[in-house]
Amino acid sequence: MTEIKLYNTRTRKKERFDPIDPDNVRMYVCGPTVYDRAHLGNARPVVVFDVLFRLLRHVYGPDHVTYVRNFTDVDDKINARATESGRPISEITAETTQWFLDDMGELGALEPTHMPRATQYIPQMVAMIEDLIAKGHAYEAEGHVLFAVDSWREHYGRLSGRSVDDMIAGARVEVAPYKRNPMDFVLWKPSTPDLPGWDSPWGRGRPGWHIECSAMAFELLGKSFDIHGGGNDLMFPHHENEIAQSCCAHPEGDFARYWMHNEMLQVEGKKMSKSLGNFFTVRDLLEGNWDGGWKVPGEVIRFVFLSTHYRKPMDWTEKKAREAKTALRKLSEQADETRSGAPDQRIVDALASDLNTPMVFDLLNRLWARGDSKTLTASAKLLGIDLVKISKSIWGKPFFVEFPGGAGGEGEDFQPNIGFLSWGSISQATMDKLRPMIHRWLKLRRDKNWSEADELKERIGTTGIELTVTKTPAGVTSATAKIGDNFDPAKLEALE
Ligand SMILES: [Zn+2]
Repeated sequence: MTEIKLYNTRTRKKERFDPIDPDNVRMYVCGPTVYDRAHLGNARPVVVFDVLFRLLRHVYGPDHVTYVRNFTDVDDKINARATESGRPISEITAETTQWFLDDMGELGALEPTHMPRATQYIPQMVAMIEDLIAKGHAYEAEGHVLFAVDSWREHYGRLSGRSVDDMIAGARVEVAPYKRNPMDFVLWKPSTPDLPGWDSPWGRGRPGWHIECSAMAFELLGKSFDIHGGGNDLMFPHHENEIAQSCCAHPEGDFARYWMHNEMLQVEGKKMSKSLGNFFTVRDLLEGNWDGGWKVPGEVIRFVFLSTHYRKPMDWTEKKAREAKTALRKLSEQADETRSGAPDQRIVDALASDLNTPMVFDLLNRLWARGDSKTLTASAKLLGIDLVKISKSIWGKPFFVEFPGGAGGEGEDFQPNIGFLSWGSISQATMDKLRPMIHRWLKLRRDKNWSEADELKERIGTTGIELTVTKTPAGVTSATAKIGDNFDPAKLEALE
């Protein structure tokens, strides 16, 4: 069996992965708060842990992996959105949940085994909070229930490597008079009549954010499970608080054994933010509503994400998106429609080495160079990239126009074949501009004016067009102009 090694944030080491029960490998990943479209950064953990899910399914069998990812559908941001828009909360959460699933589906993400919504688990959260109070780890104050960090002081902060004192010194925590320790966090809070609320032993209220993951992970995965994942922005306080709640409520369990965190996403080297104007959603990219201005297929977004290792910051650039599109198109030229191959073991091993996805792309290119289409297609599929689907989609099918010549002669009647190859439509203006230039280029070659011919080819090349030439057995010269993704019509127009 393939040996999997994963970097465990808890121990700061790459460790051999030994599941508690190989017949039921269990993973929990923190999901989205549903009040708006997912931005590009929200999609990174989805794609990263989807690759891990696929690897685990490959190694242990698809029926032996349980993956839970939650939807936070009770949150102050949702309440604020409902007030602003005048729409009911349930309508907003149902709509944005479906948006999330649709957008992540476009990125090739499999649906997790369970996708619990917080509002479905309120009684379980209340029971867990009651248990924490009974065990002396939580207390009620002014309609709130708070987790008492001092009751677990020597463990709290271990995951992120901070002590409670450091946290107090460094944190900008709201100072509530009813807190015994400023780091104590909310398990339950009171609701006013206009806000969502549930009856509880502490009055009508709603849960704090952290408790839902502890309650749902316990219900669906048990006291101890294998992997817990999320973005590294969640490590503190969210994951520290999950650990505190779960380990105090179920001291006989381990909660999660392997903690995995993906690094954040940037855009063109900068943090993505609304104020910098470089903020966009997955849907914006899919529909072309971003600075690049073109529709980015979901497979391209996935490819760009996975070309950087998940523990490194991922820099989204337009250049990378274009390169990914070209690379995927190339790989899909060899899609095996029979889908009868098996993934290359070296690719499985690269993924098993803490998800070394950049290395996987190198290996896929080698399979392409060898022409091993069956193994290539199956290996790409393991990464969640469906080459057969790509080869059939519009942007994977080249468009070819040819103007046949015939006279290959020495004289002025020289009539070569001239073809245009593109993955989008080719405008008449482009063809009209290019044809005499290509003709001139071929004439220069025919007359062995090599340096002038090369110079012309190079100038045409700067517009994003690659020229190639062959000679048919009958002696007719045949040239093809391959119009690349980086083709710039304005540059072509300016050429003499
Ligand atoms: Zn969580």
